[in-house]
Amino acid sequence: MTAQVISGKEVAADVRAKVKAAVEGLPGQPTLAVVLVGEDPASQVYVRSKVRLTAECGMRSLHHQLPAEASQADVEGLIAELNADPEVDGILLQLPLPKGLNEAAAIEQIDPSKDVDGLTEASAGRLILGKPGLRPCTPTGCVILAKSALGEDLSGKHVLVIGRSILVGKPAALLFLAENCTISIAHSRTADLPALCRQADIVVPAVGRPEMLKGDWLKPGACVIDVGINRIDAPERGEGKTRLVGDADYESCAAVAGSITPVPGGVGPMTIACLLRNTVLAACARRGWDLPQRL
Ligand code: NAP
Repeated sequence: MTAQVISGKEVAADVRAKVKAAVEGLPGQPTLAVVLVGEDPASQVYVRSKVRLTAECGMRSLHHQLPAEASQADVEGLIAELNADPEVDGILLQLPLPKGLNEAAAIEQIDPSKDVDGLTEASAGRLILGKPGLRPCTPTGCVILAKSALGEDLSGKHVLVIGRSILVGKPAALLFLAENCTISIAHSRTADLPALCRQADIVVPAVGRPEMLKGDWLKPGACVIDVGINRIDAPERGEGKTRLVGDADYESCAAVAGSITPVPGGVGPMTIACLLRNTVLAACARRGWDLPQRL
C-alpha cells in the first residue's frame, strides 16, 4: 500500500479561505494582537507570517515588540493592556519567552475570552469539561487533518497519541475524544509502544524524536498525523546542511499507512490556520456576532 499524502498546505489554505469568507460576512473586523519578546530569529519568522496571514484573511493584526530584557511585569502589563482593549479579540504571546521570564505565569494573565492559543488554565478546563472555549491550535489542526483524510465522522476510531505534553499530546487526545474516538495516550514510560500502535486507526506522534515511529508498528491502512518537527543533519545535501523530518519514519510508514502527513507541509501549516480560525471564533463570542458560516 502507498499512503495517500495529506497535504497540510492545502487543508490549511482551505481553513484560511473559510476564515476569510467568514470575516467578510462579519459586521466588524476581528483583531489579533501578537506579542513578541526579544529577538529570537525563529520567533520573528513565525510572527511575520502570522501577521501577514492575518491580514490576508481580512483581519487586523497589532504587533507588539518588547526588548529581550523586558521584565515579567513589563510582559504582564502589556497583556493587561490588551485584555482591557475592547478592540482586541485575540492575544498571542509568542513562545518561547527569553530566559528568566515565567511563561506559565504570563500565559495565565491572558483573558480566556482572548486566549486564541488555547493555553490558559481556563481554556484547558473548558476543553476537559466539554464546554465551549478556545482550543489549542496544533491539536485542532490534527483533528481537521484526520477528518480531511477519513471523513467528518471519526466516531469509533481508535486514536493513539504519542506524547502527553500540555501543548500538544493531552489536548489532542481530548479533542479526538470529543469526536467520539477511543483514545490511548503513550509517553516515555509506555510499555511495548509498537504493539499499542498496531491497534490504532489513527496514530498521532507528538514526541520530538526524529523518525521514531516505524512502518512495521502500524496497522495496515492506518492514518498517521505527524506532529514532530525535527532538524537533522543532511550530509547528502552538502557539508553542514540539515533537513526537517517528523517523528514518523516517512518512507516505511507511507508503505503501510492508508494516509500520512508529510513533514514539512503537514501539521505545521495548520497551526497558524487554526490560530486565525480561533481569532474569528473569539471575536464572534466576545462581540455577540453570529458566525456567517461554519469554520
Ligand atoms: P514535549 O513537551 O517535549 O513532549 C514530548 C512527549 O513525548 C512527552 O510526553 C514524552 O513523554 C514523550 N516521549 C518522549 N520520549 C518518548 C518515547 N521514547 N516514547 C514515547 N513517548 C515519548 O514536546 P511537544 O511540545 O509536545 O512537541 C512534540 C513535537 O511536536 C516536537 O517535535 C515539536 O517540535 C513538535 N511540535 C510541532 C508543532 C507544529 O506546529 N507542527 C507544534 C508544537 C510542537 P514523558 O511525558 O513521559 O516525558
